[in-house]
Amino acid sequence: MRCTCGSDFRCEVVQEWEDGRVFLRYRCERCGFGVGIETDHRKGGGLFAHQVWTDEARHRLDRLPPYVEPLVRQEVEDYAARHGLTVISTDVMTEAGNQGMVSWHPEAKQRLSRVPGPVRAMARVELERTALDRGLPEVTVELMEEIKARYFGMAAPRS
Ligand SMILES: [Zn+2]
Repeated sequence: MRCTCGSDFRCEVVQEWEDGRVFLRYRCERCGFGVGIETDHRKGGGLFAHQVWTDEARHRLDRLPPYVEPLVRQEVEDYAARHGLTVISTDVMTEAGNQGMVSWHPEAKQRLSRVPGPVRAMARVELERTALDRGLPEVTVELMEEIKARYFGMAAPRS
């Protein structure tokens, strides 16, 4: 991204807002022109040449023990690169920490076990993929209800 004066913008601020949205502020190094962008942390990627950490993600990184910090940083940046993410938010950190895997809320797990075999595998994949897409750390009963209604055209049985 380049300023109209031809100089490069420098990223000054990256803040996380609600629901996986981020706010980024850029300033031109030469003329001082500034721009602010509110975007999804997954969609902001096309705008930037290199990875930026949100203030919140950086803060979480800073609180780690010194011997762990470089390892986590590397792991998260590798994960983000593999997934084409240039804005590294706390959501991305959580995903990377789970190695792209989603955990299951105990109630959701129990409910999944009651789903008939052939449908279960498909439901598991769909639910984990949706949770990851939304940056959720785990599959919940609420998510199951929603996906069931959308993909299988039926409401989950009330237990
Ligand atoms: Zn400029």
